[in-house]
Amino acid sequence: MNIVVCVKQTPDTAATVTVEGGEVSWGDAPLVLNPWDEYAVEEALQIKEEHGGQVTALSLGPEDAQEALKQSLAMGCDQAILISDPAFAGLDTLQVSKVLAAAIEKVGDPDLVLFGRSSVDSDTGITGTQVARRLGFPSLILVSKVVSLDPAGGKIEVERMLEEGRQQVAGPLPAVLSVVKEINEPRYPSFMGIRKASKAEIPIWSGADLGISDDLSAAVHWPEIIAPPKIETEVEMIEGDTAEEKAKKLAQRLAEEKVI
Ligand SMILES: Cc1cc2nc3c(=O)[nH]c(=O)nc-3n(C[C@H](O)[C@H](O)[C@H](O)COP(=O)(O)OP(=O)(O)OC[C@H]3O[C@@H](n4cnc5c(N)ncnc54)[C@H](O)[C@@H]3O)c2cc1C
Repeated sequence: MNIVVCVKQTPDTAATVTVEGGEVSWGDAPLVLNPWDEYAVEEALQIKEEHGGQVTALSLGPEDAQEALKQSLAMGCDQAILISDPAFAGLDTLQVSKVLAAAIEKVGDPDLVLFGRSSVDSDTGITGTQVARRLGFPSLILVSKVVSLDPAGGKIEVERMLEEGRQQVAGPLPAVLSVVKEINEPRYPSFMGIRKASKAEIPIWSGADLGISDDLSAAVHWPEIIAPPKIETEVEMIEGDTAEEKAKKLAQRLAEEKVI
């Protein structure tokens, strides 16, 4: 199996996000492998362990996105490739999918391309399907279980987790999958894996390397980003000797505030 897993570097979910002068900042909070993508890496590794083959982690981002790739390598991916080019800054999902699809084609003949369900920062959840459309592969999103995989027969059957319930779907390989956290429990990188990853030289592919020469400006622009208004809250304690008295006073205050 030739498996490609697309991973994004995102701010830690514990980061305090601020908006200043229309720019988003998460201060000096650490950047991490997008938490949802850990499940995609884990699933890729489990499929490789069962069926053989190799797993390539792929990320589009600035040069420091190598850290997310190093975590993927430390978990057990065989190789990692960073796609980085100043021309790729500020792209929208449509263009990101174009770049990722070109890189997947350059990796060559994938059987499976895995994605997380969404990134915790931009959170559109559509990149995987857009890549599938560009590659002409079926898109099986929100996968909570790989029910069966038959590389020789070129077939995959998965369970998808939807709001209304679970859905079983089958499709041909190669396919694109996006996975939800119910699919597995991501492994911790091993000590050996961390050592191997720290020494790894990660190749960096530019637009020219991918044969992308057209102007990749975003169709969807973010002209302004505004922080949600601060909500001021006041706490008022209702006192009383009995529960009935407190309830009566509470109802009175709520009526005064026109809540009831
Ligand atoms: C500085 C900056 C400026 C931006 N400006 C714009 C703008 O002007 N207009 C606009 O529409 N958007 C803009 N974006 C958002 C950007 O287009 C999205 O981050 C990108 O398209 C991916 O979409 P998403 O993060 O919603 O991923 P999702 O679709 O939520 O992610 C799903 C999965 O796709 C994979 N994935 C996503 N991104 C990558 C990646 N880079 N590399 C590898 N795998 C990936 C991961 O597996 C992830 O779990 C900007 C982002 C940044 C950081």
